[in-house]
Amino acid sequence: MHKVLIIGAGGVGGVVAHKCAMAPQVFGEVVLASRTKARCDAIAAQIAELHGRTITTAQLDADDVAQSAALIRELQPALVVNVALPYQDLPLMDACLEAGVDYLDTANYEPPDVAKFEYKWQWAYRERFEEAGLMALLGSGFDPGVTNVFCAYARDHLFDTIETVDIVDCNAGSHGHPFATNFNPEINIREVTARGKYWEKGEWKEIDAMSVSEVVDFPGVGPKKAYLIYHEELESLVHHLPGLQRIRFWMTFGDEYLTHLRVLQNVGMTRIDPIEFQGQKIVPIQFLKALLPDPSSLAENYTGKTSIGCIIEGKKDGKARKVFIYNVCDHEQTWKEVRAQAVSYTTGVPAAVGAEMIVTGKWRRPGVWHMEQLDSVPFLDRLAESGLPWHVQEM
Ligand code: NDP
Repeated sequence: MHKVLIIGAGGVGGVVAHKCAMAPQVFGEVVLASRTKARCDAIAAQIAELHGRTITTAQLDADDVAQSAALIRELQPALVVNVALPYQDLPLMDACLEAGVDYLDTANYEPPDVAKFEYKWQWAYRERFEEAGLMALLGSGFDPGVTNVFCAYARDHLFDTIETVDIVDCNAGSHGHPFATNFNPEINIREVTARGKYWEKGEWKEIDAMSVSEVVDFPGVGPKKAYLIYHEELESLVHHLPGLQRIRFWMTFGDEYLTHLRVLQNVGMTRIDPIEFQGQKIVPIQFLKALLPDPSSLAENYTGKTSIGCIIEGKKDGKARKVFIYNVCDHEQTWKEVRAQAVSYTTGVPAAVGAEMIVTGKWRRPGVWHMEQLDSVPFLDRLAESGLPWHVQEM
């Protein structure tokens, strides 16, 4: 039985804490630390009420490497699960190296002052983790995360060669607000307002944001308009799918969401550079975050489903093959189980399963790794048992 330290007590952190607490045979002790301890305590109270388990909580500013390293040394966990924000990735990787503990996250590092989605900063830690005999697992959410594992499963078990991958992500749920984001608003808006990008025949191709769309028939949800956007898992997958000719990422957005976003962009509210306001500097997107509903607060009355998967084409035994590997998740069910909406759930469950793969030794190896570089089968088995059943549909 292992001790896990979860950092970040937002929508995703809540799910990881619930799920780890629900697996006492793997996680003998669960500690939840975050900037605002009251949020950790509220999650701990829910866990006690729903699952009858006590978890420990702590206050932590994860931007402060020395403070994080001291907490990790004091607790001696088997693993640190970082579900705070992407800005904390590098300080927490440094703290894990200092304290000698494995690391896992769900989103790649982003510098606060430029909206860039690149792994180069985290890839630069490879040697240090290898030399220390420690593991860092990057992107163990749904996308990135499960989508990478779906690709690995297709590569290793369904195809001789993969030619194209289209990752498709639909949240067909309804939260009743005119405009809200399903995970951290600042990170979400930075992602969807960035220029679109995909990879074809060895080259990255850029497009204007939201300028290309297609209707996708999502299992469990039906046909929806999806937009081509850039997403971080493309950067690692192009290195690990031999023979790949094209990979793209598509996400659905409602008309209402896009109209609000366009207005907010036009008036400058999505800017990430500081502006002078009444004698002090404020960053418009951070101010906007303070006005928008907290993503975890959307959970209680959320209805509908998410449907996320990979449409993969290639060759098997000399014949063309096309499959859709996917999961459908219901907001109301996830609320009942762990008091979360499905976007937090589909991220938090793979983080907890990834954590289990590391602490039980099934995936543990020194270095910095992406999900598609590890054996897909034990992960997918536990994913299905942990609340995210997945399916392969021949097309
Ligand atoms: P939230 O904004 O709901 O929660 C973030 C949490 O991190 C908050 O509790 C916040 O504290 C805490 N935090 C922020 N800064 C610090 C700090 N310096 N020190 C300690 N704690 C800090 O975000 P979500 O739960 O929605 O998302 C969490 C992560 O999951 C993000 O990185 C997001 O990008 C990622 N994600 C990944 C997905 C995937 O599929 N791979 C999908 C969705 C999200 P406070 O309460 O004080 O604000």
